[in-house]
Amino acid sequence: MADWDRQRSRLSDRLRERVADEDVLAAIASVPRHLFVPDDKRHAAYADRPLPIGSGQTISAPHMVAIMAELLDLSPGDQVLEIGTGCGYHAAVTAELVGPENVYSVEYHASLADEARDTLEVTGYGDVSVRDGDGKQGWSEHAPYDRTYLTCAAPEFPGPLVDQTRDGGVLLAPLGDGQQRLIRAEKQADGTLNRVDHGGVRFVPLQ
Ligand code: SAH
Repeated sequence: MADWDRQRSRLSDRLRERVADEDVLAAIASVPRHLFVPDDKRHAAYADRPLPIGSGQTISAPHMVAIMAELLDLSPGDQVLEIGTGCGYHAAVTAELVGPENVYSVEYHASLADEARDTLEVTGYGDVSVRDGDGKQGWSEHAPYDRTYLTCAAPEFPGPLVDQTRDGGVLLAPLGDGQQRLIRAEKQADGTLNRVDHGGVRFVPLQ
């Protein structure tokens, strides 16, 4: 087994303390995080911590990606909207769970979107759709989504994202201006959100 593979499988094992969903752990064990992070950060790719990815942005720690995937309760075929592609790692983990052709991701910085598209292609997740633009507007062409999540913190779930999520679907995001909380919300038939607070978190802010 190559050293990267060994490190990755050890990381996935360690996450078992925090994440019970075996499909999520298998996804973490599959996605080559070292190919998504900048070259000079590669040595730390399988440490469970956030890493800088350029343009002042950060890739979340693996445990946070895993916790979010578990909270989203993803199944094969689910249509998923991600806001904040960054380097594309989180999108690849989601793609492992739902199928790459079902993942739509919007990134504010065109340079990050371009790089993420390239990395997703070479790592075998080329069917993930990435566009640059303001994620607050969502991606209406592919709506409705079963699951919508943000990898950057917003004051509140942006209205267009709620609109583009189906009734009975789930939204997940770090919410709050200063102190952020990870909020999971199920969209009810009347359009209102049934929220559960999953604790304090720290993400880069939505632009
Ligand atoms: N999921 C990413 C982590 C990205 S960090 C990964 O695995 O690498 C959050 C990302 O959200 C950053 O890339 C940032 O540029 C992006 N972002 C911030 N505001 C945004 C907005 N309004 N629309 C889309 N993306 C946004």
